[in-house]
Formats: sequence, structure tokens, C-alpha cells
Amino acid sequence: MAKIPESTIEEVLSRADIESVVGQYVTFTKRTGQNLFGLCPFHSENTPSFSVSIPKQIYKCFGCQKYGNSIGFIMEMEKLSFPEAVKYLGDRYGVDVQWGDDDSENTKNLKERKKRVMNILTDAAGYYYKALNSDAGKAARDYAAKRQLSNETLTKFGIGYAPDGFDNLYSFLKSKGYNDEDLNDSGLFTRSKKGNLIDLFRGRFIVPIFDAFGKIIAFGGRNLGPELPKYVNSPDSLVYKKQNHLYALNFVPRNTKQLIIVEGYMDAIAMHQAGINNAVAALGTSFTDSQLRLASKYAEEVVFFFDSDKAGKAAAIRATNMMLAYLKRMTGIKIRIRIASVPEGKDPDEYIKTYGADSFKSVVKSAKDVNDYLFDRAYDDNYDKDSGLDLTKYQEDIITYGSWIYDPIKREKMAVLAAQYLGARAETILFAMEHAEKAAMEASRGNEQRESERKEKTEVEQRRTSAPVKVPNADRVTRDEIELFVRAVRLGGVLADETKIERNDVIRKNDFSGSNMKEIVGFFLEHFNEKTGVSDALLITKMSDLLLNGLKAETFYIKASEQISRESNINAEVDMYKRTLYNVRLKKSQDELKLVDSLIQTTEDKDKREEYIELNNKIELYRQKLIEKRNKL
Ligand SMILES: [Zn+2]
Repeated sequence: MAKIPESTIEEVLSRADIESVVGQYVTFTKRTGQNLFGLCPFHSENTPSFSVSIPKQIYKCFGCQKYGNSIGFIMEMEKLSFPEAVKYLGDRYGVDVQWGDDDSENTKNLKERKKRVMNILTDAAGYYYKALNSDAGKAARDYAAKRQLSNETLTKFGIGYAPDGFDNLYSFLKSKGYNDEDLNDSGLFTRSKKGNLIDLFRGRFIVPIFDAFGKIIAFGGRNLGPELPKYVNSPDSLVYKKQNHLYALNFVPRNTKQLIIVEGYMDAIAMHQAGINNAVAALGTSFTDSQLRLASKYAEEVVFFFDSDKAGKAAAIRATNMMLAYLKRMTGIKIRIRIASVPEGKDPDEYIKTYGADSFKSVVKSAKDVNDYLFDRAYDDNYDKDSGLDLTKYQEDIITYGSWIYDPIKREKMAVLAAQYLGARAETILFAMEHAEKAAMEASRGNEQRESERKEKTEVEQRRTSAPVKVPNADRVTRDEIELFVRAVRLGGVLADETKIERNDVIRKNDFSGSNMKEIVGFFLEHFNEKTGVSDALLITKMSDLLLNGLKAETFYIKASEQISRESNINAEVDMYKRTLYNVRLKKSQDELKLVDSLIQTTEDKDKREEYIELNNKIELYRQKLIEKRNKL
């Protein structure tokens, strides 16, 4: 991890207050005292279990258990490393974050490797570009001509050609001095059966993939003959994660309000050439939530073009579902989603070539709001011109789609319109939509819960198998608890000396879990003498008829006190006593936290839930104090 000076981190944390950092992503729906509540951005839910504590400057989700400070939040949200998140916040809140020179070897190495890979990619792009205009590149030039790509476009997009053969690019890059390890990192090569690096792109039309800043991070290659697959793309690499990028975003003007999203980079290129400069392409088979978030940083609205075939239609429904679920969760992200379809089943590229950019712009204008799109899809998909509307299937679809919509007014509108076809009351349909939404959420929560229950179970089983004897509750005492008691007894009158031990740090019955131990402690406190404490002799009379961990209490106690180390002086004894006390209390509060957390997750009552959340925050604060005290010892 890179080394950022502690003082810089502190300054970032003091300026990047948690409310404003989280507020960029989460809409707070409630404030109680110094705590804010909203829907969790990390898991899907319909009642807020995500909280921010202003005095503590932390966030915590009682649903998925994530918690942390502003830096941790940004790491999680933006998928950044610690130093990157500090830098990110530093940029936003005006703190100069320097970490380049202080990098540890690992980070330095990684940065160097990435730099070399970027250089390789740039050199490769130059090589492909040059090859396009070589004799061998004729097939690619013919293809470009067939797609009616102008020379200007070929240059702007850095279009190239990968010559046929297994080691053209490889030899070129080797001659530039790159080693196999870095070449392997670049994603431009694959391995032969013998294990040698061979060119990934062979005899293909090459499209460099840029990041939002115009740096080349990967390539796409289209076939020029019948060979399969039609498209070969760079795999994810040190510098490329396809789900995080939108092709051609670097060519979109900064002041755009709208992004047009098409399926392939060839479509995007054709659109830019036609003057539609706000077109971008998703780089995988499906649009991702990271891409939607990226788009939301550049525009207020996205207009999607999906292929009009069956696969394209299915992709549209999948993407719509994903996006609506994502936006339901991420209340801080505001982006309007519209779905367009090109008439006559053409793709956008063909359509522009046939009818021109202006016609295409009117197709964009007529794109449907995602809610209307879903409404129409439910009808179109289930309508047959001979048999009419299949009402059973229509009902199924419309209720599913309605359950995805998070805007209550739009959902109601959908229900009202569907009521006409279904011959049912809108309220009933609305109710069914809400029910479906709840069921879907419970199903997803069920998955999470089953997972965490499974984990807990294995933990309990582990504990069980490692515990030598299974003890009934009443005589239960932990190793730390018995040590605490032994040390308290040993301190004698010092336990009452407030200059050494504050009142709060005197043991109480509640520090112990089993009822027998509680009884013994109660007896101890009752008979406590400010000068001498309580003698072992007196304690043992009390213990004679009680059990501890399955043994006679006096035997157990005497054995334990023999085993527990004696410190060299009374101050060291006091410190050890305190350390043990804090550990016991920390353990206990941790168990309480677990209980409160499970109450928060299971309760349906909103007020109760908030009470529990308050309680949880109190326990956390208490734990923090204990940890501080323990650290001071
Ligand atoms: Zn959560």
C-alpha cells in the first residue's frame, strides 16, 4: 500500500465529512439526532437500514453489515484502493495528496507495470494503424470502404489492421525491447500449445478501445472473412476492465446532456461519423451497473438502442431490470433511461446510412421512457394477431415489470393503464406489483441471510467442537471472566481506590455470563471491605455449593488463581486487571451487538427498528471508548 502521510489522511477525513460524502450517493430519508438514515447503496432493500453517524463520522448498514469512514465508503463505492480513495477525496475537498514518491515497492511495481502495458498498447496501436495502409491491409481497407468509413474517421478512431500470422505484432514489440512478461500483461497475446506468446489478433480489422481520457486500454478485432468468431476483444487486464468503460466516451463533448448507448463499437463509430457525437457503446454482452454509474457522471439521460431481434429484446429486458434495481438502490444517482428502437428491424448504423442523421435524430427523440417501454413490451410480447392478447401472460409480465418501477406515480400509471386490458381494478394490480416487489426482495434477502446463517452455523460448530466440555448455562464461565474475578479478588482494597480505578471499572455482576458466577460476584461485592477486599476463605464458603464449568466452584477457582500470572507490582496488577476487564466487556458488547443487529434485521416495526439502531450506535460508542482505554494501558 502506498504511504500517505498520516497528517494528510487526517486532513482528508476532517474535510470530507461523512454526510456530504455519502450524501452524493444516498438520499437520507430520516434524521434522528445526529444519525441519518437512507437506503443502503450496497444491497437492495426497501426500508432503510443504512445509517450515518455524524459524531462518529462513520456509516453502517444493519442489513449487509458494511461499515467504515468516508475513505472506506469511497473505496467500496468507487472500487478504489485506499490511496486512490484518499486521492479522490483529496481532489474533491481540496487536500493535496502526495503519494507518488512514498510508494511501497508493490505499488510502485504495479504502477510501473501498468505504465509499460500502456506503452505497449500505444505502440501496438501505431503498428496496426500503419499496417492498415500496407499492401497486406487491403482487405481491411475494403471493409472500411464497405462500412463507408471516411479517412477522417479511420484516423480519429485509430482504426488499424492486424496482419495474418502468429508473431507479427510479437516480433515488432520485441524489437522495441519489451519483455515477455509485460507483453503477456498487455492482453494482446495468447499462448500456443508449446507455451509461446502468439498474436491474439490475426488478419483482423482493429478498433482501439479508449478510456474516458482517450488513452488506449484495449482492442477489438473484427473478422474480414468467414473465420470465427466474428469479434475478438482484449481480455480484462491490468489496465482494462470492460464493465467499467463505455466505448467512445472520450469523443463525447463534455456539455452533453444525453448519451446514446448502442451495442457495438462499429455502430458507435458510424454514428460519430454521421455527426451524432454523443454515441457510446457498451463493451460486453450486457450493460453493467458500473457503466450506468459512469454514464450518470456525464449525462442526465441515456437512450438505449438494442438489436431488434429476439436476443436484442431479451437483452433489453435484462438491462432494464438491472438498471431499475440499481437505481432503486442508489437513490443518489439521477439518470433518465429511455429505450429507442430503429424502425424496420435495422441497426442504427444501417438506418443512418439509409435515411441520414436527421431521421435518426428523430428516432432518438421518439425513444420511450423505460416505464412506457416496459408497458408496451408486456402488450407486444403477448399479443397475437389471430388470438389477441394472452391475458394470463400479459398479467404476469405487467406485474413483474411494475414491480421493478421505483417511482410510485409511474407505477400507478402503469397499473391504471393495465387495468383496462385486465378488467381488474387498478388498486388490485398495484397491490400485486407491490407484493411482487416484496417477494423479489425477500428472495434476494433470503439468499443473503441463508449465506450468513450458513457462516454462523459453521462458526458455532467450530466453537462447539473446540470446546472440551459442553457446559450448561448456569455454571458457565469463560477463561477471561474467571481471570477477571481472580484479579479483582487479588487487588483487595485497591479495587476501591478511585485514584487507581474509576468507579465504572469495578467489576459488576453483569460482566459475567453464567448465573452461578453472577451469584459469586454478588456475594463478593456485598462483603467487600474497603481496606482488605474479600478473603479467599470467605469466598470459598460461598462457593462450596456451586458449580463452575462442571466443576465444584471452589476447586475451579483455586486452580484458576494458581494459573493466573502475578505481576511484579501493584500498578502492573491494576493494569492487568483493567485489560482483562476491558476484554471481557468488549466480548460481551460484541455479543450484544450481534443480537441487536439480528433484531434490526428481523423487526418489521419501523419505530422499534430505529430504537435498535440507536441502541446499536450506543454500544458501538461504548466499545470505542473501551478500546481507547485499553490502548492507553
Ligand atoms: Zn447494506
